[in-house]
Amino acid sequence: MSYIVALSGGIASGKTTIANLFAQLGVPIIDADVIARQVVAIGTSALTQIVKHFSQEILLANGELDRSQLREIIFNNDHERLWLNNLLHPIIAQETQKQFAEQTAPYVIWVVPLLIENNLQHLADRILLIDTPEELQLERLINRDGISESLANRMIRTQVSLTDRLAFADDIIVNDGNLAALTVQIDHLHKQYLHNSKVKNS
Ligand code: ATP
Repeated sequence: MSYIVALSGGIASGKTTIANLFAQLGVPIIDADVIARQVVAIGTSALTQIVKHFSQEILLANGELDRSQLREIIFNNDHERLWLNNLLHPIIAQETQKQFAEQTAPYVIWVVPLLIENNLQHLADRILLIDTPEELQLERLINRDGISESLANRMIRTQVSLTDRLAFADDIIVNDGNLAALTVQIDHLHKQYLHNSKVKNS
């Protein structure tokens, strides 16, 4: 089985940018946000159970899950959040492991923004965290999404802090420079992960 490298970091820390650079080296990318959407797609048993619990009102006109309505409900109700987490976490973990098992590349990058929050560390062989200085994270978030500084600040504050995140890291990418600086770090990690995958499978 492929060696699994979890890539995580705060909002606008550079997860997509860095995953794209690994993809350019031919590394497959598995995206936890995509899996989270796949497991509640139309026709899934998870969606049937969500409708049973919250009623048809939780669906959009086209039959898809109304994710923003669901987000609002669970944001305001701990009991409902727990119910949903208990339903979805095992299904997401199972689907993630199934997608890992289908891989044949030496290693894959698993982009997983909520790795620590959702306690998914055990699914990875290695944890790669992005360390972006907060002023830069704030500046990039404001520029990319065109939002106010106060909203960007609040979005960063609701997340696990960088210090708490770094406690889980095996490797760290410091994203405080330009793309060339990132590429140097990624080339180095690429070699290391190819080596690690050989050791795992030997
Ligand atoms: P989200 O948490 O919202 O999914 P993300 O962690 O995937 O975000 P990116 O979208 O990759 O972060 O990066 C945030 C913004 O910062 C983007 O506009 C990206 O182009 C820019 N950015 C990231 N890294 C760099 C860098 N090293 N140099 C210049 N711009 C960068």
